[in-house]
Amino acid sequence: MLKNDMLEQWDRENFFHPSTHLAQHARGESPTRVIKTAKGSHITDRDGNQLLDAFAGLYCVNVGYGRTEIAEAIAEQAHELAYYHSYVGHGTEASITLSKMILDRAPAGMSKVYFGLGGSDANETNVKLIWYYNNILGRPEKKKIISRWRGYHGSGLVTGSLTGLELFHKKFDLPLAQVVHTEAPYYYRRPDVNMSEADYVAHLVAELEALIEREGADTIAAFIGEPVLGTGGIVPPPEGYWAAVQEVLNKHDILLVADEVVTGFGRLGSMFGSDHYGMKPDLITIAKGLTSAYAPLSGSIVGDKMWKVLEQGTDENGPIGHGWTYSAHPIGAGAGIANLKLIDELKLIENASEVGKYLNAEMKDALGDHAHVGEIRGEGMLCAVELVQDRDSRAGFDPSRKVVPAIVGEMAKAGVIARAMPQGDIIGYAPPFCLTREEADTVVAATVDAVKATLG
Ligand code: PLP
Repeated sequence: MLKNDMLEQWDRENFFHPSTHLAQHARGESPTRVIKTAKGSHITDRDGNQLLDAFAGLYCVNVGYGRTEIAEAIAEQAHELAYYHSYVGHGTEASITLSKMILDRAPAGMSKVYFGLGGSDANETNVKLIWYYNNILGRPEKKKIISRWRGYHGSGLVTGSLTGLELFHKKFDLPLAQVVHTEAPYYYRRPDVNMSEADYVAHLVAELEALIEREGADTIAAFIGEPVLGTGGIVPPPEGYWAAVQEVLNKHDILLVADEVVTGFGRLGSMFGSDHYGMKPDLITIAKGLTSAYAPLSGSIVGDKMWKVLEQGTDENGPIGHGWTYSAHPIGAGAGIANLKLIDELKLIENASEVGKYLNAEMKDALGDHAHVGEIRGEGMLCAVELVQDRDSRAGFDPSRKVVPAIVGEMAKAGVIARAMPQGDIIGYAPPFCLTREEADTVVAATVDAVKATLG
């Protein structure tokens, strides 16, 4: 390991990092970490520091690091056939097999999988398919998409618009006009603390109905949502939320897109979040957990209702004008097959459910009464600790104090990675599904120490 080489300088001089304070990074004011190797739930940087990755990369390395079964599947595929396209009816054994495996696991009523590379392009595909669908049905005005504030759906033009986080809009001229936002289902931040969960759901539904009324139902094509809000703060929905939303959407003939980029393939302790909450989506977005990030691959799972109209559209207009060179890339597909097999063979969804419950319970036990902990929440292998200046008013900290970045910085020094969520004072956890109880204990202990060191 070289410490006197040029790598750090090359990094600051050449590498445009996503979601990074560019000026501070270029000036060398912010820390960098270059990751070299990883195994199980741990990563090791080039200075030899080993860290327990309690965010599984970007909640994507679901089966854990260093799985030779997936590495070998990728190598075999690269040797046999590194690439062929999937245009005009072409395919590979891997891409066809994976589409069958996905449909076998998907909620009822789904018909086909369109493959992309990442969650953003999959949602881009979804929006195009929704617009195409309504054009074929002769409803050219029915095009707007409702998303939620605090939703995260990517950072492209339309997907960055769907995302309901300020940082992803500001100075980018987003959101685009075809996207409108409604309130996030965030019970802790309900407008009136005296609201029960049922009252709050009724309030959210009234807000949604009012938005639809204002815009006109005949202009609204679809509603997109993550079963559990992810990047917006790891917020499970209040009881009855999805059933109530579904009823409104059905009434106004509005499609539902379940963005399962984080929740798909087991993170909630169920194969899909849609099944977990009884959602009946017309489209499901998948990415991250599809390959556990061993290779880039995403998908749009298209429901029966839309599929029939897409077929009708091509009978009327010719082949669908939508495709990426790397759609259904065989190396991604090979990784996906090996990944889904591992999830089954090692019963990783069961472990995510069991150890996820343990992590949440232990976190509540250890920190639930802390004067600056407002809420600890989670579902499956997802957990969040929301900090507040004042528990009664739920007021947050002065953002200039950067309380959560300081806490996760302390945790990293102690060898545990958690994520400072981008909006609000929220520490996020989304460990690999193979996390053990002992590792969960380490995560909780590091959190307690860092919260106490930072806030007393
Ligand atoms: N949708 C959700 C729910 C996500 O969490 C993400 C990424 O975090 C995306 C979409 C975008 O995926 P990608 O970063 O692969 O484009």
